[in-house]
Amino acid sequence: MKEIYLDNNATTKVDDQVFEEMRPYFCEFYGNPSSMHFFGGQVQKKVDEARNRVASLLGALPEEIIFTSCGTESDNAAIRSALEVSPERRHIITTRVEHPAVLTLCRNLSKRGYRVTEIAVDGEGRLDVDELRSVIDEDTAIVSIMYANNETGVIFPVEEVGKIVKEKGALFHTDAVQAVGKIPMDMKNSTIDMLALSGHKLHAPKGIGALYLRKGVPFRPFMVGGHQERSRRAGTENSASIIALGKACELAGQFLDDENNRVMAMRDRLEKEILAIVPKVRVNGGLAERLPNTLSVAFEFVEGEAILLLLNEKGICASSGSACTSGSLEPSHVLRAMGVPFTCAHGSIRFSLSRFNTEDEINMVIRELPPVIHRLREMSPFGREVLVSN
Ligand code: PLP
Repeated sequence: MKEIYLDNNATTKVDDQVFEEMRPYFCEFYGNPSSMHFFGGQVQKKVDEARNRVASLLGALPEEIIFTSCGTESDNAAIRSALEVSPERRHIITTRVEHPAVLTLCRNLSKRGYRVTEIAVDGEGRLDVDELRSVIDEDTAIVSIMYANNETGVIFPVEEVGKIVKEKGALFHTDAVQAVGKIPMDMKNSTIDMLALSGHKLHAPKGIGALYLRKGVPFRPFMVGGHQERSRRAGTENSASIIALGKACELAGQFLDDENNRVMAMRDRLEKEILAIVPKVRVNGGLAERLPNTLSVAFEFVEGEAILLLLNEKGICASSGSACTSGSLEPSHVLRAMGVPFTCAHGSIRFSLSRFNTEDEINMVIRELPPVIHRLREMSPFGREVLVSN
């Protein structure tokens, strides 16, 4: 059985070309890029090239890119820096549907005396921009609002947000971990001050990320020590992974059209067929603007975990909308914030595609999924009612 991987928002396969690009930088060109000799110089040149490639995907300047260890570090660095550069401002604005990389940090900061406002979303996962307008004030140091949601793929109007933030003199950070490489970006014409991205979401390895920091925006480093990354992120560079991230960004730029055409068409076909074949289904965020690769679909009166297990037996790998990592089967904070009814949130499955998926794989899911849902509904009294009424 050949497994079908549809969990690309969790992590992605390292592209073979990316791996080949990084391979020599372990055993052959292993120098420290800060070293003045041959070994160092070789690596420094490739790190510079990687910085150019990342910057180019974002429409940014190379000096605006700081390499970090992951998306989480980039988010932490951005928010903590903003609080340090304006210590007199004590208000943080974020949303209820952020990834824990932002939400947990903000909640921890609220315990340390910061005022934190979490903006609501509507039933489709769209941001309440009016609430942002009403709560932002001269005390706001940082607004951290994600570019696109990891569970539903819903895209937030970050440029509109950035304009509102600028009017109050606060800084604007966006967690773009799910968006970079999937939709085009141009920092030259943007209101974003800081932006987090992560390598393993775009076919580079895990454990490498970057923070875009707009030229002129004041910054206080989170990691201090040596002078790497122009003293903005201390620690010997993870050069092989930086080189991989550069290559991954170059490829992501080349595949952007593919992502927005072929990948989106596969996602749309999967969505359409599921809605046509399976009764009592809703698409979470289906009416909102979404990433081209993400489909979060709620099957009423079935357990998401049970669906995942049965799909897994068929070699289909997706993820659920439950916070199963915490050991509970509570629906995710994202679906709860959207007010998705409990019976739907519980049966929510996320399919997230990549350029490595094929039409045949989508056909396979369309064939295998409906009987799985039918079988599970047959096992539950509420589920049987759905089957009878259809
Ligand atoms: N932000 C979002 C929206 C994510 O989806 C993730 C990872 O799932 C992160 C941040 C964290 O990124 P990393 O795993 O690189 O720390």
